[in-house]
Amino acid sequence: ADHSFNYPARPEDVDWRSLYPSMGDDQQVQFADIGCGYGGFLVTLGEMFPEKLAIGMEIRVKVSDYVIDRIAALRLKNANEATTYQNIACIRTNAMKYLPNYFQKSQLEKMFFLYPDPHFKRAKHKWRIINQALLSEYAYVLRKGGLVYTMTDVEDLHTWIVSHMTQHPLFERLSDEEANADPITPKLYQSSEEGAKVVRNKGEHFLAIFRRI
Ligand code: SAM
Repeated sequence: ADHSFNYPARPEDVDWRSLYPSMGDDQQVQFADIGCGYGGFLVTLGEMFPEKLAIGMEIRVKVSDYVIDRIAALRLKNANEATTYQNIACIRTNAMKYLPNYFQKSQLEKMFFLYPDPHFKRAKHKWRIINQALLSEYAYVLRKGGLVYTMTDVEDLHTWIVSHMTQHPLFERLSDEEANADPITPKLYQSSEEGAKVVRNKGEHFLAIFRRI
């Protein structure tokens, strides 16, 4: 059923090697794309950071299946190329519920929330992928100095994210100068399917990056 998940009891139980067959013994997932959608940005991460393992987490079965197939096809097609896509993978899960089941304390270096679904109604606030209770969980799985990248085309949601993240004692926002100096920043606008759509429609994007203190 769409609402049942197989999830690990603890991070030690995750069989990462089944997701990244050629990973090194000392390697750990360090990048997480939360709500990765169709995986466009995940593929970009794989190309930009060949030495890092990145995971996409997606709640919709059909969408995560699509990304899993997409990665398998990329691996097959590029087996003898410089970029082999062995460093990216996707799991179907509810990232709002199960993050600490997958990641150890301080494991992650970067988390991405690109075009998360906005929910405007106050009653739905607790379902938002960025909410005050969840921020402490994100802070837990992120290492000190780690970064949370957020991008949305919904200004209200951006304002809301910025106010909650900056209120949280464990996060501080990067200055515009710092954000613009990050090589990932230009990719956030169009690498993902949702970002590309906003660009096509000439919509606005709102970016904010936060550091785990
Ligand atoms: N990040 C992608 C992009 O930029 O193209 C997808 C953006 S889409 C608007 C939001 C995605 O988040 C959807 O694919 C949705 O299924 C997923 N999502 C929503 N809640 C989620 C959750 N709790 N855990 C994992 N994925 C979630």
